[in-house]
Amino acid sequence: MEPRAVLKDKGASRVRSGHPWVYRSDIAEARGRAGDVVRVLDRRGTLLGMGFYNPRSEITLRVATREDEPLDEPWFRVRIEEAIAYRDLLEIDADAYRLLHAEADGVPGLVVDRYGEHLVLQVGSAAVDERLGWIVEALVELLSPHGVLLRADSRARKREGLDTAVRVLYGEVPDSVVVREGTVCYRAHLWSGQKTGGFLDQRENHLAAGRYARGRVLDVFSYAGGFALHAARRAETVEVVDTSELALQAARANAGLNGSENIAFTRSNAFDLLRERSDAGEGYDMVVLDPPAFARTKRELPRARRAYKEINLRAIKLLNPGGALVTCSCSHHFSREAMEETLRAAAADAGATLRVREWRGQAWDHPEVLTIPETRYLKCAVLERLS
Ligand code: SAH
Repeated sequence: MEPRAVLKDKGASRVRSGHPWVYRSDIAEARGRAGDVVRVLDRRGTLLGMGFYNPRSEITLRVATREDEPLDEPWFRVRIEEAIAYRDLLEIDADAYRLLHAEADGVPGLVVDRYGEHLVLQVGSAAVDERLGWIVEALVELLSPHGVLLRADSRARKREGLDTAVRVLYGEVPDSVVVREGTVCYRAHLWSGQKTGGFLDQRENHLAAGRYARGRVLDVFSYAGGFALHAARRAETVEVVDTSELALQAARANAGLNGSENIAFTRSNAFDLLRERSDAGEGYDMVVLDPPAFARTKRELPRARRAYKEINLRAIKLLNPGGALVTCSCSHHFSREAMEETLRAAAADAGATLRVREWRGQAWDHPEVLTIPETRYLKCAVLERLS
């Protein structure tokens, strides 16, 4: 019998509103096994679309199309072709970027990142797992990469009840590759780096921050120096701060690759360092804050708010007049409104007037879908201290 799922009214109206996720509690009855493509119906039997089914996951169903169509090999190929065509339009000034961004490119649970001649995949859905052969074949035919790596080691996979592994799916994939981002280059560690090897979603913000850099710059939560490398082109000195020795090693190597001799590397907890430096009355012309997601769930929001306020208050105090704060949050749950509110409170406590220079988001190769709020997660404000 054909696999299918009948949704309760709440789930059906959510799918009709354009949201592809159906939680276990919104399913009235279902027939199928993990990895099946199922017909998705409302209680009256009207077809809502076709979806990826996984009864082991809290998000039990991900609707991939609202049409009555088979999700076969040509379907995946067309999605990949469309994702590539969209990136071609963006005229990306880099050779590492996201080629396919899951739901926002019509394939729930699949991420494809490009690092020059290599592709790195992340898969968070049983249905995509089972169809990887088709996907890799299409990618190889369309892009002729040297190698394709599967990074199936995310926390999301555990939530989906999927096994974790990192393995080559095609060709050869070295431990790391050097890629270009605007006028700088960096080494991306494809097998072991954070995410798929780099923070590609910050690419456009890295470039933007570079335009504000001058004088003395502090890049806090630096990882491999994504912001610092660009800032070092214009600033006199840049100091990167991270708790991770591996991150600092990578940042040091990247500074070397770019011949940037004005970058210093400090291993420290950002909270301690910001407090000490502001208590000591230090001054900077630009401070970058790019912390990990402080709120991974709604429940963590109050604590996250306090943490964001603390680091932003300290950073504002550190700014010389005319200095720029580049402040980011990658927590979807911490909304742009909540972030503005927090920054306002921090500015008030610091007695500072801040002019908004830019409100930015994730790079455009990580598109948002209007009806899927979760696809909008990264926020980046550039604020100039007037007094
Ligand atoms: N700015 C980077 C990405 C930062 S990811 C880029 O654009 O490429 C967040 C970084 O924060 C990680 O490298 C992590 O090691 C570091 N980190 C997490 N908690 C920290 C803390 N309390 N103090 C300093 N660094 C921290």
